[in-house]
Amino acid sequence: MLSALPLAAASGFMAWAVRGRASSVFAPSVWRGPSERRALALTFDDGPSESTGAILEILARHGIPATFFMCGANVERLPSVAREVVAAGHEIGNHSYSHPYLFLQTPKALRAEVARAQTAIANVTGVQPHWFRAPFGVRWFGLRRAQAELGLSGVMWTAIGYDWKLRADEVAARIAAQAANGSILCLHDGRELRVRPEIDVTVEAVRRLVPMLLDQGYTFETVTRLLCPTNSRSAC
Ligand SMILES: [Zn+2]
Repeated sequence: MLSALPLAAASGFMAWAVRGRASSVFAPSVWRGPSERRALALTFDDGPSESTGAILEILARHGIPATFFMCGANVERLPSVAREVVAAGHEIGNHSYSHPYLFLQTPKALRAEVARAQTAIANVTGVQPHWFRAPFGVRWFGLRRAQAELGLSGVMWTAIGYDWKLRADEVAARIAAQAANGSILCLHDGRELRVRPEIDVTVEAVRRLVPMLLDQGYTFETVTRLLCPTNSRSAC
């Protein structure tokens, strides 16, 4: 069927299938929670990093939980920071081991990336993640099976902060404007596998954003709590 489509349409479909937040072509994933409750989930990718502690301080000040999608290699590099995140009551998700593009990887290599992160996170923190966020949001052949075998569900995002290229006030304003009941918000406490990544913009954006969202009446929840309020994952 695809060969009958104009090339542009076919490649447009593939781009959406691979990166579209609502696409489940390569693996099931969710990008927002239920809209009945005024709750949302703050998520951070690419950590842990040397600056994760600054984010934890802000979250602790407001007494709110978040979900950290960690790279296995970063967890092994900074095990005490990973454990600190868990000890503070936050949720941990799997963000692959080395943050590759899953695009064009063999199913075997893709599964190895996800499995290695799962093992690293479990060994260091004692936590087995339930959620997987694909690096760069890119899903590919083999992910469906890897997720199923490893007991993972895919999570994309409702709004992303572009905190690697915008100013802090722009990031906060962008997220605050897009937030709605059930939103999953994506920011970054690391930068792929970089050592001492520059994430001052993210820290400042979170400092501004959390009070704004609290003022708008939102409560903050982990991804599990947001998506599975009855605490039954099979019902999600
Ligand atoms: Zn990432």
